[in-house]
Amino acid sequence: MDPRELGEFGLIEAIRRRAGRRHPQWRVAIGDDAAVLTPRSGEELVFTTDALVEDVHFRWRTTDARLLGHKALAVNLSDVGAMGARPLGFLLTLGLPANVGGERLDAFFSGLLALARASHCPLVGGDITRSREFIASVTAIGAVTRGRALLRSGARAGDRLFVTGELGGAAAGLLLLERGRVTTAAESALARRQTAPRPPFAVGARLVHLRLAHAAIDVSDGLAQDLGHVLRESGVGARVELEKLPLARGLTRAAARLRVDPLALALGGGEDYELLFAAPRASPSAAVLTRRLQCRVTEIGAVTARHRLVFTRAGRAVEPDVRGFQHFKAPPRDSEK
Ligand code: ADP
Ligand code: MG
Repeated sequence: MDPRELGEFGLIEAIRRRAGRRHPQWRVAIGDDAAVLTPRSGEELVFTTDALVEDVHFRWRTTDARLLGHKALAVNLSDVGAMGARPLGFLLTLGLPANVGGERLDAFFSGLLALARASHCPLVGGDITRSREFIASVTAIGAVTRGRALLRSGARAGDRLFVTGELGGAAAGLLLLERGRVTTAAESALARRQTAPRPPFAVGARLVHLRLAHAAIDVSDGLAQDLGHVLRESGVGARVELEKLPLARGLTRAAARLRVDPLALALGGGEDYELLFAAPRASPSAAVLTRRLQCRVTEIGAVTARHRLVFTRAGRAVEPDVRGFQHFKAPPRDSEK
């Protein structure tokens, strides 16, 4: 898919062929002035957008184009899922430098469209523009039963707090990649958490279907910060038991090698794209939720009426250094340049 050979319209035609033509609920997809969606009655639509910009969010020197395509959609699926919605489709705006290679673009679309198929979230339109840096901006659309979206503002005092999957892996993976220290299989797995996130994007819709949650958010900026958003929007506080946090497999050992605190990575590292949710006191146990949601779930604490976020260890309040690790979320540095 070399833009210099194909030109804009040839490139759109190539994208259209690769994206497929017939998609449920889309009466018109790529090829007209705009895409046409037929909504189901009783559903509300959710919209979200997230862009990946060269030299801001990634550098080609350390980035595989296939993984970049995957990630461009994955981060949007995570947001759709965190609303309790199922994905319906997405638009893609590409900013292409004059010298972007055909192979690189091919690989980008391989990763992007593989995830699109796996998540039943087709590419239904977009735009292409020349630009100095490579830009991939995805706008995803989802649907949720009317009135049932999982908002940040829905948590209530007495709710229990649950999180899917594992925490801290993506931040450890980023550090390992930056320091060129990916050697063991466990370290490669952590690096993949960073480069190829697999958000449990279907879990939010299952929570809605089973009426199991009051509020949800995807953990993209670190558990401490994202939980903070829920507490602020809901006007409540929370107690989180540090020993219960599901640390990513291999995290403790990798953190020791990196000389960082694994808890700080789990609380402040970000980009884990797991789902954090508040559920009523009478909810099933984490083991039962794990089975019903088809995804590992861990109970990590509870929502409180006091407007404070308190971390405890063995029942005692402690103050983990979370803010000290905010720099993990800074744009990539090119120290070897
Ligand atoms: P317009 O001039 O109306 O903006 P374009 O030539 O930009 O039309 O796009 C023609 C069609 O191709 C539209 O259906 C548009 O959604 C689709 N399209 C353009 N760029 C992309 C892209 N990067 N990915 C998917 N579809 C695209
Ligand atoms: Mg256009």
